[in-house]
Amino acid sequence: MTAHPLHILKTVYGYDAFRGRQAEIVDHVMAGNNAFVLMPTGGGKSLCYQIPAMARPGMGLIVSPLIALMADQVTALRQAGVRAAALNSDLQGDERHSLWRDISSGALDLLYVAPETLLRPDILDLLHRTPLSLIAIDEAHCLSQWGHDFRPSYRQLDALVTEFPDTPRMALTATADAPTRAEILSHLRIAESDAFIAGFDRPNIRYAIAEKDNPRAQLKRFLGAHEGESGIVYCLSKRKTEETAAWLCDQGYVALPYHAGMDKAERQTNQTRFQREEAIIMVATIAFGMGIDKPDVRFVAHLDLPGSIEAYYQETGRAGRDGLPSDTLMLYGYEDIALRSRFIETSDAPEPRKRIERQKLDALLGLTETAGCRRQALLSYFGDHSEPCGNCDTCAEPPDMFDGTIAALKALSCIYKTGERFGQAYIVDVLLGGADERIAQFGHDRISTYGIGKEHDSRTWRAILRQLIALRLVNVDLDGHGGLSISEAGRQFLREKPVLMLRVPAKPQATRGKSGRK
Ligand code: ADP
Ligand code: ZN
Repeated sequence: MTAHPLHILKTVYGYDAFRGRQAEIVDHVMAGNNAFVLMPTGGGKSLCYQIPAMARPGMGLIVSPLIALMADQVTALRQAGVRAAALNSDLQGDERHSLWRDISSGALDLLYVAPETLLRPDILDLLHRTPLSLIAIDEAHCLSQWGHDFRPSYRQLDALVTEFPDTPRMALTATADAPTRAEILSHLRIAESDAFIAGFDRPNIRYAIAEKDNPRAQLKRFLGAHEGESGIVYCLSKRKTEETAAWLCDQGYVALPYHAGMDKAERQTNQTRFQREEAIIMVATIAFGMGIDKPDVRFVAHLDLPGSIEAYYQETGRAGRDGLPSDTLMLYGYEDIALRSRFIETSDAPEPRKRIERQKLDALLGLTETAGCRRQALLSYFGDHSEPCGNCDTCAEPPDMFDGTIAALKALSCIYKTGERFGQAYIVDVLLGGADERIAQFGHDRISTYGIGKEHDSRTWRAILRQLIALRLVNVDLDGHGGLSISEAGRQFLREKPVLMLRVPAKPQATRGKSGRK
């Protein structure tokens, strides 16, 4: 079949128009170029390879990891009149024979195949007998060793580059952070300029991120704007999940806990209730996620720092599937950062993996501390672009910035002079000239940074330190005591003293906002 893409879109799929960047991607591949396509699940990736595969001369080869997934796609395509088939290794006798004949005679538009089958010499041989319109590698993140779905057979797909050098290659995925993406591009020799990243924006979701101040009061204020609505409150630990659910019930809400430590039946009951009832709050660990199919989740709150930007995006993304305005709030604190750092450093992961995890944490902290639009920062992490959105906390109320150069220098020298082993609270105490007996005991009341920070209060100093951590000028120690030390970048800062703009910390919640005080 060779026909115009738009014609195929109408006749085969019954759609009138391409969506998002589909048209751009289809044109790009039609012209014989490679493409990397990163779109969230449901974004419409399949058309991006199926249509050029049909519209270009030759058979399109689709690499897919799961046989079940392939079978579904093939059935749907055949029903729409497309000559599609799946090549799997357990085909026998006549069936196998006729499929091989169809392939070599050019009777197919699309052939689905698993990577381990594709790379068998006899199959490669067979495929060389017919012209190929393109090779599409679906779920391309499976080739990345950093991803969680690594499949060794995917790794060998780079052989396709040499086997079929003149056939356009497409790699498609919904989950790829920056390192994974770079790995896919380099492994499959796809140029940066062939990358299409789109559709991550969820315009109906409002984003807000705040420092933990009085988390329960903050949560209550947030929920106050959502009376009678359903939502999810994420906590890091099972215990906190239980406690928070109980507390919310005391406050008159219908709240249920959900975590992996509960028995299966109870978990199932809670999930079903959440699904069916209105005005219900699920207080959950990240164990709650898969298979939530409630379109009218109106809010998602994080009472602790999420695991990564991807996790944050996924978890907040459970709000507002119906497209109606939905609200999110993330609370985070210094302890969260210390805890996450410790998770990373004490894990058994090899060093390169830890490096990636550190980068992910940095990116997340960058999002929490940004003075710019949250949505812009979030989307730019996925390589997607947007203008300032007007629908996030920083757009609504741009944070005040101040020249934090002097403050940063004071904080860094104080960390240095106290031996780079004390935690945030101690450092702040020394800067403010506090009377903590440990200060006298260590003689830190006699160092030059003792009491040199009285121009700021302790809240502000904590916010400054947190930003220095987020900016990686300061490291949080690995031993679990949260000791602060100066990073390489921090040392460079001390030498060069460049201007550093910092956020003025938000005012304590109780003195701000429209409602919520009883
Ligand atoms: P992905 O593979 O990215 O998860 P799919 O390709 O399965 O997404 O598409 C998700 C849904 O959107 C499917 O039901 C698909 O038919 C539909 N869809 C895709 N492109 C369009 C379009 N241009 N117009 C209308 N619906 C579309
Ligand atoms: Zn914004």
